[in-house]
Amino acid sequence: MHKLSLKEVRSKLFKGETTAEIVTQSVFKQIYAQEPSVQAYLSIYKEQALTQARAADERLKKGERLPLLGVPLALKDNLNLTGTETTCASKILKGYISSYTATAVQKLLDAGAVITGKLNLDEFAMGSSTENSAVQKTANPWNKECVPGGSSGGAAAAVAADECFGALGSDTGGSIRQPASFCGVVGLKPTYGLVSRYGLVAFASSLDQIGPLAKTVEDAAILLNVLAGYDAQDSTSVERPPQDYTALLTQDIQGKKIAVIKELLGSGIDANVRQVIQTAIAALQKQGAVIEEIEMPSFQHALAAYYLVATSEASANLARFDGVRFGHRAAGAKDVLTMFKRARAEGFGPEVKRRIMLGTYALSAGYYDAYYLKAQKVRTLIKQDYARALASYDAVLSPTSPSVAFKFGAKVNDPLSMYLSDIATIPVNLAGLPGISVPCGLADGLPVGLQLVAKEFEEQKLLQIAAAAERGCHFERIHL
Ligand code: GLN
Repeated sequence: MHKLSLKEVRSKLFKGETTAEIVTQSVFKQIYAQEPSVQAYLSIYKEQALTQARAADERLKKGERLPLLGVPLALKDNLNLTGTETTCASKILKGYISSYTATAVQKLLDAGAVITGKLNLDEFAMGSSTENSAVQKTANPWNKECVPGGSSGGAAAAVAADECFGALGSDTGGSIRQPASFCGVVGLKPTYGLVSRYGLVAFASSLDQIGPLAKTVEDAAILLNVLAGYDAQDSTSVERPPQDYTALLTQDIQGKKIAVIKELLGSGIDANVRQVIQTAIAALQKQGAVIEEIEMPSFQHALAAYYLVATSEASANLARFDGVRFGHRAAGAKDVLTMFKRARAEGFGPEVKRRIMLGTYALSAGYYDAYYLKAQKVRTLIKQDYARALASYDAVLSPTSPSVAFKFGAKVNDPLSMYLSDIATIPVNLAGLPGISVPCGLADGLPVGLQLVAKEFEEQKLLQIAAAAERGCHFERIHL
């Protein structure tokens, strides 16, 4: 049962061919079988999930047909759910119990979902391999010597290993799409403002978005239908008429114009990835898409701009973790300042400290204009490059990541090479656009993700093209 897609399991539940309790039991059996080696979960809620499943069964019996009724899903551990531990895979939040529920999580619950647990991530979502988790290493289900990507590595691995039917992740610079690419699942970062961020532990507020990781494009669309919508609790939430994101999935893409970004298919991209992307391009052409190459000159500055904007915002957002209100309290300090300092020195890991220092420096008096302000200007140029391209194309295409999943330890001591794994995903966050990663083939036995990006709030069309790519590429999911 756990091997089915969300859509398939939901159809069995709705037809009465199975029960939510049986489905949930099947998922937990898989979790207990796979977790010793995959280690995607930080918390497992078996008893609560079975209670939710039984309640769902009562409602199913009465004929209720909520969109996720009885479907087991999991959450990245930077999303609040009342009464559960929310750690962000950081020592500083160990033992912190959420006193409220994120809007996106509440929407899953209101749609009838069963929550199986919380998933590993790079500490505070900072990283691209999940190796920055202070708790555990998550393995890539395709090759357990390889990383699952990050920062939503637990979410991508859990979906790939059939340890849930879908998961919520967060994406600040690629954290949904890049791990989805590494683990051979679908990852969607919605337009900034489409999904409420209320209750997501903030990393870089002008870039963060919550989105689904799923087994198929259609499953991602089903989840987005539930997640999207205005929320007064998030001041950046946007009021839009609701859309059915599954509506265009089976429509052909005859005549759709797609731009390939020259800079993201050149020398910085591994040859084996490039080859798979070329095959995917051919598959889209075969379905009638018109594909042309374009240049995005501002992209060469995207990584630098991102690491100024993201670290600046992180340095401000993470100031709240002082050992007083949340989590870890340093013992034995004689005064309050020493207590703050010790709590932060003991609680944060090395990558988080690096980012706080970089961001604090970038925002400091006398440097603001040279760094933060300049980065914001680069951001405008990137937005303009996309706007130009998307004025004449329906979508832009690139690999999601320049490489397939790499081995544990390969990049942890070289932050710059780690940061480069997000070269294709970061510009999308800087521009606030929707982006999706669809698995499109294997290179050296590991999945390659195709990234598609559309105009803001054009998720319907984005998903339509993504579904065509999925049909054309015949990617087979792994089943552990
Ligand atoms: N890997 C990028 C970083 O380390 C993006 C992380 C994210 O999207 N949360 O900042």
